Amino acid sequence: MEIYLDANATTPVLDAARSAALSAMAEDFGNPSSIHSTGLKARALIDRVRGQASRLLGAGNGRLLFLSGATEGIQTAVLSALHALRARRAAGDTTAELLLYGATEHKAVPEALKHWNDLLGLGLQVQAIPVGTDGRHDLAWLKAHAPRAGLVCTMAANNETGVISDLDGIEAALAGSACFWLVDGVQALGKLPLRLAERRIDYAPFSGHKLYAPKGIGLLYVREGAPFTPLMAGGGQEGALRSGTENMSGIAALGAVLEALEDGKSFRDHATLVRFRDQLAAALQQAFPGLVFNAPLAHSLPTTLNFSVPGLASRLLLDLFDAAELRVSGGSACSAAKAQPSFVLQAMGLPDEQTASAVRMSFGPAAEEAFIVEACERIRVCGETLRENCLAPAGNQALVGDGITRFLLDGECGWLLADATSRRCIVIDPPAALAERLAQQLRCQGYPVVAVLQTGPQAEGAEALRAAVPELLAEETGEAWALGTQTLRRLALSEGRCAYLLDQRVAFAGRATAAELGNAVLPATLLAPAIDTDNRIASTPSSALARTAGPAPSLDPAALQALLREHPEALLIDVREPFEQRLGQTPTLETAVRIEAMPISRLLNALPAWLAMPAEQPIVFFCRSGNRSQVAAQLLQRLGHERAYSLAGGLALWPQRAAVADPALYV
Ligand code: PLP
Repeated sequence: MEIYLDANATTPVLDAARSAALSAMAEDFGNPSSIHSTGLKARALIDRVRGQASRLLGAGNGRLLFLSGATEGIQTAVLSALHALRARRAAGDTTAELLLYGATEHKAVPEALKHWNDLLGLGLQVQAIPVGTDGRHDLAWLKAHAPRAGLVCTMAANNETGVISDLDGIEAALAGSACFWLVDGVQALGKLPLRLAERRIDYAPFSGHKLYAPKGIGLLYVREGAPFTPLMAGGGQEGALRSGTENMSGIAALGAVLEALEDGKSFRDHATLVRFRDQLAAALQQAFPGLVFNAPLAHSLPTTLNFSVPGLASRLLLDLFDAAELRVSGGSACSAAKAQPSFVLQAMGLPDEQTASAVRMSFGPAAEEAFIVEACERIRVCGETLRENCLAPAGNQALVGDGITRFLLDGECGWLLADATSRRCIVIDPPAALAERLAQQLRCQGYPVVAVLQTGPQAEGAEALRAAVPELLAEETGEAWALGTQTLRRLALSEGRCAYLLDQRVAFAGRATAAELGNAVLPATLLAPAIDTDNRIASTPSSALARTAGPAPSLDPAALQALLREHPEALLIDVREPFEQRLGQTPTLETAVRIEAMPISRLLNALPAWLAMPAEQPIVFFCRSGNRSQVAAQLLQRLGHERAYSLAGGLALWPQRAAVADPALYV
């Protein structure tokens, strides 16, 4: 079962909201502008939901418009305020020079400010209000700049950190300024009392999908008397403030959510949410010693936790949690696809290591106790898995090392060769940026390092590694090193470079081409490079001559089942890393099939056996999303095994998965 802890990105739809939406689509489907009875029913629904929203938000005499979501609400509010500022300026009032927004505001706000400032030709200065390390606005700065501000935008609560803004303090800082004030209420809806009309807030946008309504429905509060310019002109719906036939199923669903908020039964109270957060926080601190919270919990939403584990990249933590079916994010959902440090945490002045390892966990106010207990248990298992796999910054367990393992970062590869029987190991071309990670692996493994080798002149990585593990160094000079039954030999090349040959089975070639290695290698020797920007992993002298193969065929789940029916002898290979295999689930298949576990970082060990299989033997790779399996299948095809496939979309799209990885399935 999936544990969804990314509620600040979006939430599932509440059952009651789903029923209300379905009924608005199937039965009460009228157009509220129609004057017949079907239309009147729809009109009554809109009026009822608007009334509920007005009560809950404390909107007083202010207007509430239904629109598509917060981004549209923000555009409408910014356009309205800027249009009014332009009119003021035309009338000779030039006090407004600045458009201010909180430095941690959702991107929709500064982007809308810049967009409409340009489009309306206002030429005002768009400037960020600094925040402190606690994520709250610098009120002294705001007070000093408020007299020259035309519009001030400050969110009620932050989507990445949960930090709650001091709205009363902001209001006091704006005293005496003629500026307009926009408060982005998206993350506060249903979690904080906003008392909109009691404050001088002019505009407040909301999105239904952050609180159990579907995507595509939102609200905009406009204070009584605040200027308004429609973004959408047309049929005159919403009192001509927002034209376009209303999203009735969305409004009905939002109505059901607001009703649940009012009845007080479906949502947990503040004290319960704080208790849930404390349970999660304690589980996290126990599972990941050294963990730090990136925002003070005391003035954050109880439903958001943002933390870092020093020494652990957020990508690794995200992969770990995802493998345990715990969905979290590295920051806002919009920026999650881009691997960039969070601008929110940067604006708070947190150190780079902390912003690079940040993870956000967020749940909705409808969370149940059992859900939190299960989340805590999975967090515990994640911490344990990390230590078992030598991935934790400290407290790792011993590890048996054997065979060849690749360490890759930004196209640079280092190779670790270990032999479990003789308990010896060798490192080739360690990239400097991976020295600490490699050192950690060596410490967990505990074998003497009999050589740290490099194929070219760049020595920083080797030096850094030697400095990190002096206790394990037992370097043997010479031209050849024994590794169990195998021997690694140095092959001198031109210009002081060299390659290392492991019994003519594998050549650690550095930057050398197959031609440079000449007769020292066989047509089937695997060439392992030091630079691999295209993630090709390995080649052979014979494959280097072949034309580049395109993508390997991808099978969707139905096509895989069909292939397995026809070829029960097919081999399935799980190329996820061991920590994912330990936590993750395996596909449930109709027929018993042989599954081999071979992480992408260790493929070299298995390639000779796979390449020796009959040409008609299907080999299907799978991973979490379909990317790594595609890399592996392409590699096999390039090396000459035609019938290599990748499971399209990976396990993420597999319809049924076994609850836990079944070790019996793996050989
Ligand atoms: N403001 C905040 C604080 C948000 O968290 C979001 C969504 O993440 C938005 C605005 C934009 O909302 P939507 O994408 O629903 O329009």
